[in-house]
Amino acid sequence: MLYSLDRIRADFPILSREVYGRPLVYLDNAATTQKPLQVLDAMREEYLNVNANVHRGVHYLSQQATDLHEEARETVRRFINARKTEEIVFTRGTTEAINLVASSFCQWLTDNGQWSKDSVFEILVTDMEHHSNIVPWQLVAQRRNLQSPLGIRNSQFIIRHLPISDDGRLPQGDELDSYFTENTRLLSLAHVSNVLGTVNPIADIIKKAHEHGVAVLVDAAQSAPHIRLDVQQLDCDFLAFSGHKMYGPTGIGVLYGKEEWLDRLPPYQGGGEMIDRVSWDKTTFERPPLKFEAGTPDYIATHGLAKAIEYMEALGMENIEEHERNLTRYCLEQMQTIPGIRIFGQKPPLLGEVGGGPISFLVGDIHHLDMGTLLDRLGIAVRTGHHCAQPLMNRLGITGTVRASFALYNTREEIDILVEGINRVSKMF
Ligand code: PMP
Repeated sequence: MLYSLDRIRADFPILSREVYGRPLVYLDNAATTQKPLQVLDAMREEYLNVNANVHRGVHYLSQQATDLHEEARETVRRFINARKTEEIVFTRGTTEAINLVASSFCQWLTDNGQWSKDSVFEILVTDMEHHSNIVPWQLVAQRRNLQSPLGIRNSQFIIRHLPISDDGRLPQGDELDSYFTENTRLLSLAHVSNVLGTVNPIADIIKKAHEHGVAVLVDAAQSAPHIRLDVQQLDCDFLAFSGHKMYGPTGIGVLYGKEEWLDRLPPYQGGGEMIDRVSWDKTTFERPPLKFEAGTPDYIATHGLAKAIEYMEALGMENIEEHERNLTRYCLEQMQTIPGIRIFGQKPPLLGEVGGGPISFLVGDIHHLDMGTLLDRLGIAVRTGHHCAQPLMNRLGITGTVRASFALYNTREEIDILVEGINRVSKMF
């Protein structure tokens, strides 16, 4: 055993509760993870004894709160091995981080004198994206295309998507090359699919994109909790993740951006914190990261996020990764024994390559909602539906799946209960 699961589970009291008189089996970790006492206690302690607004007061409490908030930034920097804390922007989550880049990057493209007759800016996403990596680009494209200056209406933003193979893989090599055109400016893609569990070969993809002069945003919502990230090694331009999916509080997330990008991009929102000087004639802005952090930040949540990171680091990201990979492999093996099961994405031939990503499945013609509802009655929490990935559902020709997803505290026994539960529900139909 890589670490003591009994000891770990004691840090998460919610895991010992019962639902419908049965022990809870929580397998909806891709939606959100549970929080350890170490995170909850630290946040309560800050509210009780430190609470004050950050970056503002000269008084003791404000300075102490500011120190905790900026220490959290340093913890995040270390966690993803960014060069500087200035490259760490706090957001409300992955969604806000992607909206920020979509808005500021596209504004920068047009402000930068590149908006001329016949300019076409292509943003590439993939067929396996979460809606939060599709809709922000669509919204920006719609607005920008409407605002194309009079007389040069040929200019436009276009969203294109990389296709996936039947087993959920992105194009590679020459095939991947063929999707970059001279108009492609940015590729935004998930590191790990929230539906298929595919772990994309992100470093290779980034290298290729850069050969074509294309910037890359990595949606790390489903990788940051499971895989050690090193933004310098990956060489990504932007990377986004959410605290609540990695044992931290809700409402806090991170946008990493290379310093040169954050320096160049215009602000996203306006307000306090992000300004240098304000007058009726001209307003100037702070340097990053404050330039992108308008308003009072959730400084209690940043502290909670730092405690969550410290919790994972104390266990060791490699140990977490190995434990979750073992669970995923075991679950896939056990699921093979279920008559009529269809697993989307991670399949036995790929077993050697599985990461800790989620497993999506359907059994026979049982509706995903029926399966999820009946598993729930057995105390098993899984997610059902389209998982905020409707274009992917269309690609797969289905309306939804049942999804089981694991965290550092899950056990083999819980997988046995899941498999037994699926078999039991299947026999009811
Ligand atoms: N991207 C992926 C791959 C996700 O799984 C999720 C959450 N399901 C998000 C983005 C959005 O994260 P949040 O809702 O925390 O902003």
